[in-house]
Amino acid sequence: MVERCTATNAAGERCGAQAIRAGFCPWHDPERQEEMAEARRKGGKAKSNRARARKQLTSTAMTPAELEGVIGLTITQVLAGAKAPGIGNAVAALARASIAIREATELEERLAALEAASGMNNRLRRA
Ligand SMILES: [Zn+2]
Repeated sequence: MVERCTATNAAGERCGAQAIRAGFCPWHDPERQEEMAEARRKGGKAKSNRARARKQLTSTAMTPAELEGVIGLTITQVLAGAKAPGIGNAVAALARASIAIREATELEERLAALEAASGMNNRLRRA
């Protein structure tokens, strides 16, 4: 039988997480408080960095119509000699990457919806 943490949480209920040492889970182990505080700080920092990156991404992501517009404009400019062919190649490669990401995202969303509909646990699949 797995030993459970005997500490109480903020709500005054028993923690109940798996005890690792001396009847405490890693988060409630008195000898690991400093280590866990550091982990919380790092976790918070990573979370805010992710949130910032995400915010920037959503404001710069192009709709398919916008992407098509940029591609069309670039083709015109390259053909007219106003832009170097290398720019056209770079835009084409980035557009392909963008489309691949969009397709993968759509597949992931459809898969998540199917799993939710079938009652399959997302966490189990990813473990
Ligand atoms: Zn605990």
